[in-house]
Amino acid sequence: MPEDWNRALAIVAHPDDLEYGAAAAIARWTAAGREVAYLMVTRGEAGIDTMEPERAARVRQAEQRASAAVVGVEEVEFLDHRDGVVEEGVALRRDLTAAIRRHRPELLITLNHHETWGGVNWNTPDHRAVGRAVLDAAGDAGNRWIFTDLADRGLEPWDGVRWVAVAGSPQPTHAVEVAQEDVDRAVASLAEHRAYIGALSDKEPAEYAREFVTGVMDMLAGQTGGRRAVAFQVYPRG
Ligand SMILES: [Zn+2]
Repeated sequence: MPEDWNRALAIVAHPDDLEYGAAAAIARWTAAGREVAYLMVTRGEAGIDTMEPERAARVRQAEQRASAAVVGVEEVEFLDHRDGVVEEGVALRRDLTAAIRRHRPELLITLNHHETWGGVNWNTPDHRAVGRAVLDAAGDAGNRWIFTDLADRGLEPWDGVRWVAVAGSPQPTHAVEVAQEDVDRAVASLAEHRAYIGALSDKEPAEYAREFVTGVMDMLAGQTGGRRAVAFQVYPRG
């Protein structure tokens, strides 16, 4: 996994998307002094069956901020796209381009944009739309003749994105080895999504989170020589 970078921006559809895998790598990076910011395209308001959207949006934003803080991420932003019906297209690319130009990251992180998680587990429309738009916006951000109104507002082109790393991809190309303390922080980070987990599972959030996070890593262990790691599909640029 590329290590010669200072700033990353993680762009995903929903609160919790990073905590189901990528957070252990993010914990390791922030501990090493790198800056990572989060941008959620929605507020996750359609994610809890038993909670109406207006309240769910508030609860899930708070859970996401707490979750980010556990892995050393202080900046968490939310766009106003509707949870569940995110449309891949120019409007989304424009919003992501603006964010990339503001943050000026060398590394973009997103979640699986493929049709499945591998095999026959179909991915959700929001994940597909956002992941593909992140890959597109990495280029848009560097072109001054796309979204010229952004440049007029002072958002100068940023052609410095060198990689887009896709977490949860069924076709991983790279892996970040993580230590026990990174795994522990990733577990604590996922466990902050208390209301969300409470609606999904009867388990305690901490127990649910540990089973999930270590379960994903154990599945990958065959490919990493038994070491704990977070896998990404990396698209290099330039
Ligand atoms: Zn999601």
